[in-house]
Amino acid sequence: DPRLQAISDAIRVIPHFPKQGIMFQDITTLLLDHKVFKHTVDIIVDRYRDMDISVVAGVEARGFMFAPSIALAIGAKFVPLRKPRKLPGEVISESYVLEYGTDSLEMHVGAVQPGERALIIDDLVATGGTLFAATKLLERLGAEVVECACVIGLPEVKEKFRRLLLRLGDQGEVD
Ligand code: 5GP
Repeated sequence: DPRLQAISDAIRVIPHFPKQGIMFQDITTLLLDHKVFKHTVDIIVDRYRDMDISVVAGVEARGFMFAPSIALAIGAKFVPLRKPRKLPGEVISESYVLEYGTDSLEMHVGAVQPGERALIIDDLVATGGTLFAATKLLERLGAEVVECACVIGLPEVKEKFRRLLLRLGDQGEVD
């Protein structure tokens, strides 16, 4: 798919951000090019449009830049998964481990109904910890997480992530 190369080329890599040794994948340069931005959304929409998905959950903050467009295009609701103490209503919360310390994601109770089919969107998967916490939030409210989709999957973590899924007993594929 020639669109993939254009997407890859539009992502800027910033060395040593936010700290020494990290090669930060900056998707804001992709958003500056509306054609490439649209290609990114279109590829994801093409995969999920006929999968009977009624919930697109986006992970704060960069998942928010893609998930609402995807939700509108496939005819699903958008549910924000936010960092602690941002959502005003009753929430459920899941913690996850970061390289240093922990963080949490929260979701409004009542945002999804049991049995709804959900897609989770973020910009990038590294260890999978964020998406794992996001999946648990949706499952705790009875939703079925059909898949998680990201714009960037770091090649060096793909094998690690696949092994994590196998360990969890999931037959899921990593594309
Ligand atoms: P994980 O939980 O899979 O280890 O990390 C994924 C999360 O970290 C995502 O929410 C993603 O936004 C953020 N993240 C980590 N490294 C990068 C990076 O280099 N670029 C961007 N855009 N996000 C990153």
